[in-house]
Amino acid sequence: MTTIENVTFESLGLTEPVLRALVAEGYNAPTPIQAKAVPHVLAGRDLFGCAQTGTGKTAAFALPLIERMLAKPQQLIPRHCRVLVLAPTRELAGQIYESFRAYGKNANIKSTVIYGGINQRPQAAAMMRGVHVLVATPGRLLDLINQRFVDIRSVEFLVLDEADRMLDMGFIHDVRRIVSMLPKERQTLFFSATLPNEVRQLADSMLRDPLEIKTTPQATSAETVVQSVFFLPQRQKRYLLVHLLKNKEMSRVIVFTRTKHGADKLQRDLDKSGIRSAAIHGNKSQNQREKALSAFKSQHPPVLIATDIAARGIDVDQVSHVVNFELPHEPETYVHRIGRTGRAGLTGEAVTFCDREERPRLKAIEKLLRTAIPTRNDLPELPQSEPSDQPRVPQGKRIGEGGQHQGRQRPGDRRASGIGGDNRGGQRSSGIRHKRTRGGHTGGPQPHRAARPQSIGPKPESASTTTGQATKEKKKHRRAL
Ligand code: AMP
Repeated sequence: MTTIENVTFESLGLTEPVLRALVAEGYNAPTPIQAKAVPHVLAGRDLFGCAQTGTGKTAAFALPLIERMLAKPQQLIPRHCRVLVLAPTRELAGQIYESFRAYGKNANIKSTVIYGGINQRPQAAAMMRGVHVLVATPGRLLDLINQRFVDIRSVEFLVLDEADRMLDMGFIHDVRRIVSMLPKERQTLFFSATLPNEVRQLADSMLRDPLEIKTTPQATSAETVVQSVFFLPQRQKRYLLVHLLKNKEMSRVIVFTRTKHGADKLQRDLDKSGIRSAAIHGNKSQNQREKALSAFKSQHPPVLIATDIAARGIDVDQVSHVVNFELPHEPETYVHRIGRTGRAGLTGEAVTFCDREERPRLKAIEKLLRTAIPTRNDLPELPQSEPSDQPRVPQGKRIGEGGQHQGRQRPGDRRASGIGGDNRGGQRSSGIRHKRTRGGHTGGPQPHRAARPQSIGPKPESASTTTGQATKEKKKHRRAL
């Protein structure tokens, strides 16, 4: 977490109960988005923040909003809330709720969270006496509003988080309906990781003279992520994954698939290979998701197989590796995925499996990153190789391979395989490496030599276009998630 050491939370205008909570959380100094946003939100200004998860944006809106409520205490009204936070997924909603609870614990802030997929009764009961902060996903919120368990007509502060994902998931109409029920006189804070036109339009319709803040957070987290790409046919990917997972350094791994179906299939494949895994995607019940996530946070985590939407907002430190089993449709999604590792100052590694058809997607990602992702030529011999799908000539200069793996690899060429116990050529490589070591290894499998981390700074403005074709594709894509 990048923080600004010469700025204190106190100097931003936060008061004692909140400051105490931050000490308990172990926050020493504000992150850039917090330093920029907090004073303006405290002053009552609307905010348009282009920021991703991992930047500390939750505290950037939660801390000043708690202060705003403390500055103007009000009796809670049954079924009403003072702050309404809209989030696209249950996971994100849950995390925001936890953050409000942590930051507001000395300030008597009452919060609750509402999302679909579980019994609504406890959620309705929690709203009976009213709360300060209601965090909700749009669909379930509308359900409860329609049943008169929730009333949002006295909301003073609205936060819309991950607006781009909200649109992606088809919540735009729900969001507009919810916003139309809110008082016009309110403070609105709007966050999105990317800025496609639809997001801009939605923001314009909701905000009044907002302060605009842009951060390049993923560049920060991704500086500690070593990226690389393997070229291989789709049908060999599972073999490669099983092979790489033998490496002990792959201690906490998220594998991204594009579809729910793909996630389930991969789980079965890993199961057959005796590898423990858990899958989270849109078809999983809330219970199943929570179980999978808590297992993933445990000391002996299973491999977590996730679709993008399900994974959005997962905040687990010490993810050692992200594997892009399939490339995402949108280049920005790649950036979100790899931001799951290399957190909290740790190094991490993102390995991408790319087949022939996915190459245009990889190009789009590299264009967004403005750098080539180093090619891995140490592909082991795998069953059912497909001679037609040859690795390409590496796009960028291969870094950190000491010349050994450089150049085009021919089909069947095992020179550079050296993975998982193949000791030929005198080099035993794990294929995957977690912590970068200088000159030698510290026992266990010899880590794959480091490719230099790619510092990435996505230009949010280059987000996807909104042609009819793109929209159709997106819809199709959404159904598969
Ligand atoms: P967010 O971007 O809000 O999802 O936050 C990402 C992670 O950073 C969470 O685990 C927060 O607890 C943590 N965090 C937020 N602000 C700070 C801070 N100022 N210092 C240290 N950690 C922070």
